[in-house]
Amino acid sequence: MNSNKKLLKITFLGTGTSQGIPMIASNDPVCLSKDVKDKRLRASILISWDDVTYTVDCGLDFRQQMLRENVQSLNGVFFTHHHADHIGGLDDLRPFCYKIGEMPIFLNQITLDSLVKRFEYIFNPALKYPGAPTVKPHVIHKTNFKVDDLEVIPIEVFHGKLPITAYRFQDFAYLTDVKYIEDSEKEKLKNLEVLVVDALRIEEHPTHFNLKEALAFVEEIKPKKAFFTHISHKLGFHKEITKKLPKNVFLAYDGLKIEI
Ligand SMILES: [Zn+2]
Ligand SMILES: [Zn+2]
Repeated sequence: MNSNKKLLKITFLGTGTSQGIPMIASNDPVCLSKDVKDKRLRASILISWDDVTYTVDCGLDFRQQMLRENVQSLNGVFFTHHHADHIGGLDDLRPFCYKIGEMPIFLNQITLDSLVKRFEYIFNPALKYPGAPTVKPHVIHKTNFKVDDLEVIPIEVFHGKLPITAYRFQDFAYLTDVKYIEDSEKEKLKNLEVLVVDALRIEEHPTHFNLKEALAFVEEIKPKKAFFTHISHKLGFHKEITKKLPKNVFLAYDGLKIEI
């Protein structure tokens, strides 16, 4: 390891698709599975280096995830996009905002525009509710930026037609809700130790990689290891799918921790 590199500690807070597993009112066998690895909260990771901790996204299960992992402080949030499963926990940033005052959030302009519309009591100074979280938006473009002494490489990826943001931190990249990536952005994914990418289900989907596309993407990018996330019950049982994967490819599961 290059001596300038920091130790990155990653926790998978959730590895499920937008509805989570089990899905409400479903009698699908995967939703009824007793295996804890088949229980998936909405997709998000915690990433720490030095003495700072960030999340990528804060979705509908954010409160439960913070309690489960006993997270005591949060320095900011990197958002991928504005869908509810990635932003629905915004209000629960409050306990962390009370500790640090103002929570930095990193997001593209489309995501910010959507948050401003949907959370006017947070973003509109004239309508700000006194108890609301206080956030400081940093709009990101395709250019790298530095956060707490670490270079962050944003990668534009397409979620159907919607341009959203993936992130590379040193030799770790987190891509979720991806269907298409331009070649120029793929250049940013060379020489990865770990790639995380979504693999929604077996069947094709208009806005997400299915298992076959995710495997082909890993083959193309050639990280040392890959973990799949944003998984729906239609992918199948964790145990069964795991057996069919190449030896450097894994299904992530809630609570999984890795260090890079
Ligand atoms: Zn999603
Ligand atoms: Zn989405």
